[in-house]
Amino acid sequence: MSGTIKWEVIKEKSEKYKAEFRGSTGGRDYKGSPIWDYHAYCKWDGCIELTQYSNGYGYGHECLGVGACGCEQQDFHICSLAEFLFELGVLLEEARHYYRDKPGAEYWGENKDG
Ligand SMILES: [Zn+2]
Repeated sequence: MSGTIKWEVIKEKSEKYKAEFRGSTGGRDYKGSPIWDYHAYCKWDGCIELTQYSNGYGYGHECLGVGACGCEQQDFHICSLAEFLFELGVLLEEARHYYRDKPGAEYWGENKDG
C-alpha cells in the first residue's frame, strides 16, 4: 500500500505527552504553500483527534466556524488507532464480501488496497 498523505510532525506543538502532525495530499495554496488536509493530535495514552478539511482549506486556516466556513471540517476521536485500523480492516472484508457479486465489485476487489 502506498501512502498518498505526507505526514509531518508539528515540532512547536509537540512535547513529552503529545504529538501533533499535519498531513498533506499534495495540494498547494495560491502562495505555493502546502495545504494541510489533515491534522492529528496524538496523545500519550493512544487516543487521537483526527481532523479532515476540504475544499482547499487546511490546518491553520482562519476558520469562520461550522456552517460559515467552506472547510467542512470533520473531527474523529479514536481511542486506539491500532485497534480502529484493525476494525476497519474487518469492515473492508465485510464490504468486499457484500459486493463480491454486485455492482461495485471492481471497486471493492482484493487489489483495491494497493
Ligand atoms: Zn474552516
